[in-house]
This record gives sequence, structure tokens and C-alpha cells, in this order.
Amino acid sequence: MRFETERAEMIEVLRQKGIWDENVLRVMGTVERHHFVDAPFVNRAYEDSALPIGQEQTISQPYTVAFMTQALQLKRGEKVLEVGTGSGYQAVVLALLGCRVFTIERHLPLVARARKTFDRLNLHIASKGGDGSVGWSEFAPFDAIIVTAGAPDIPPPLKDQLADGGRLVVPVGDREIQKLLVVRRTGSHFTQQEIDGFKFVPLIGKNAWSNGGK
Ligand code: SAH
Repeated sequence: MRFETERAEMIEVLRQKGIWDENVLRVMGTVERHHFVDAPFVNRAYEDSALPIGQEQTISQPYTVAFMTQALQLKRGEKVLEVGTGSGYQAVVLALLGCRVFTIERHLPLVARARKTFDRLNLHIASKGGDGSVGWSEFAPFDAIIVTAGAPDIPPPLKDQLADGGRLVVPVGDREIQKLLVVRRTGSHFTQQEIDGFKFVPLIGKNAWSNGGK
């Protein structure tokens, strides 16, 4: 297997930066991130940085993936919606944690490539092209929702599509810098925690930024 040492080193970096969820660390230690980045960046795939994946989009920084996944406190068998499939890396991490994954991406070439990746890995992940800021009502409610692009506000349908006891992580801010919001639903009551200093590509859609971005 290629890059085994680099992958182990990446996991060590995540630990040092404060990731403690052993399931998340174990799964991220198995996913071959070098298959998810554009060819010129393969040798940098295990650096803790965002990298290009085409369509002017990026695969999120490993620390960000680990932090958001850890924040969701997932259990096996839970139903998870991801908005912003991108390379498919985050969706694969969620599936390998034993979740039933639904993922939406607005750039169709990225959807097509991610589907090939899911097939190659023999993972059953439901995916579709479109605007994830409206959620995916056919399969709602979700135990967890993860938005991997930065929104101006929390898209209301995503809160509506959370199950009782459900968790939502979504970066909210301006186009440059965002806070990570961790929302928990109990009945019709929502609590919210904020963590500073994350940077994502913009979420573009009906309940998000208007087009004119990337
Ligand atoms: N989770 C991805 C990260 C991709 S970056 C990964 O693991 O690689 C965020 C992605 O969100 C981009 O691919 C962008 O095209 C997509 N995106 C932006 N707005 C969206 C929207 N409204 N609906 C679905 N996808 C969106």
C-alpha cells in the first residue's frame, strides 16, 4: 500500500491538534486520501491542508474533516446527510464509520467522479447532483447533517430535516472566514455551539450564497 507512513503521520498530527475520537482517527487512518485529490497533488495528500479537486473546489483539510466528524458524535447505523460531496472523501469517512450516507453536490462532474470512487470502494452511498441548501426531503429526517461549504446562515430546511436528537455541523460566516456551528435538536428545541476560525469554499444555492462565486 502506498503512503502508509504518511497516513500514520497525518493521524499523529490530528491527535496533536486535539482530535480524540478513536473511531474517527482509525477510519481516517485507512482512507487513501491520495485517490481523492488532483494528480499534481498526490504527493501532498497527507499534509494537513485543503487541496484542489477540480471545478475550483477543494477537499477539506484533514483536521477539519476530523473535527466536524467528531462533533457529530455518530453511532453505527445512523442516517447522515452531507451537503457538498466534492471529492467524496468525507462521505467515505462517514460510510466507514458505519453510517447510511446521503450526499449532494452542485457540480455534476464531481458527482460523477465521487460515484466511481464509491463503487470502486464497494460502498453504498446515495448521491445526487443539485442544491443541498434545500436538504433531501425524501430521506429526511437525518440523525446528522454535515455541510462542507460555508453558508451565510443556517439553511432552514436543514434544521427542519434533523431528527429528534439530531446534530448539524455547518460553517457560517462571510465568504472568507466562518465559524463552525454545531446545532443539536431536542424535539422542537435547538441548541447551538460555535467554534471559531474555519475556512471553506462557499455554499451556493437557494438558502445560501447566490451564484457568481465558484
Ligand atoms: N466534502 C468534500 C469537500 C468539498 S468542498 C470532500 O470531502 O471532498 C465543498 C463542496 O460543496 C464543493 O464541491 C462545492 O461545489 C459544493 N457545494 C457548494 N454549494 C453547494 C450546494 N448548495 N449544494 C451542494 N453542494 C454544494
